[in-house]
Amino acid sequence: MFGLGYVLKWLITRKWTQLYLIPKKAVFPEICPLCLSSCAERAVVEKSADRPTNNYVVAQRREWLEMAIPHCSKCAKKLFRSRIIGLGLGGVCIVGAFLLLEKPSGASPSLFMYIAFGYPAYAVATTLQKGVVFGRASSLVMRVYIRDPEYAKRLVALNNTHLGVVTEVPLADNRGVPHKPK
Ligand SMILES: [Zn+2]
Repeated sequence: MFGLGYVLKWLITRKWTQLYLIPKKAVFPEICPLCLSSCAERAVVEKSADRPTNNYVVAQRREWLEMAIPHCSKCAKKLFRSRIIGLGLGGVCIVGAFLLLEKPSGASPSLFMYIAFGYPAYAVATTLQKGVVFGRASSLVMRVYIRDPEYAKRLVALNNTHLGVVTEVPLADNRGVPHKPK
């Protein structure tokens, strides 16, 4: 049921600039990625897509990366609001799923629709407002989507001084991008 959310997220970010950052070395410019204001004094924490690390008998451990990105206070507030809306929708999804599992016969079609579209709504509500979205990540490299080309340029310039921290996708169709490290 999470598939549609990922597809919608991909649809939103596919026209954005795609970069690969080395999480341990990457730095974000002190400008707001949304309005390019230079008074970016608020740190907004962005999470990468999580991935399973090991399969245990009882639980699967999942890992993700978090990094703080400077935003101006106006845009940070906007992001916070969309996150609350998104979390609300996500909560409804979870509650709905429990209700469905409890009594599958009593579930109304409208409830099912809410579950099917609640998470995608969350993904869209949060992604639409963002200037920077993190994609898949390992401890060595992380895919980053940047909404504003000017901000992307600044990010590349800033990180190029740290030698090889940023890899731009050089060719279309993801040819020539670094292999996923193991
Ligand atoms: Zn801003």
